[in-house]
Amino acid sequence: MAGSQGTAYLLHFERKMSHAQHYIGFANGEGLPARMDAHRKKRGAAITKAFVEQGIGFEIARLWVNVDKNFERNLKNQKNAWRFCPICRKERGYEKCLR
Ligand SMILES: [Zn+2]
Repeated sequence: MAGSQGTAYLLHFERKMSHAQHYIGFANGEGLPARMDAHRKKRGAAITKAFVEQGIGFEIARLWVNVDKNFERNLKNQKNAWRFCPICRKERGYEKCLR
């Protein structure tokens, strides 16, 4: 279903693994709880599965509601996900000006 709206989400992991500490994903419509459940049960994505297998927990750092897959793709393409992450920004002293 092209252009369908949903929620983009940013997962922040407790610690880094191979320089990665974030995952950006997308859930259709009201599907966010099911996506989180899938990540925790290692069925969500290869990277989240790898983190969970290492015993590294995660939390939802940020949500973008009523967006589509293109929005999520743009976020992913920008790299440096920490810039979108309130937790990392706070650690780096960028508490304000979150865009
Ligand atoms: Zn972060």
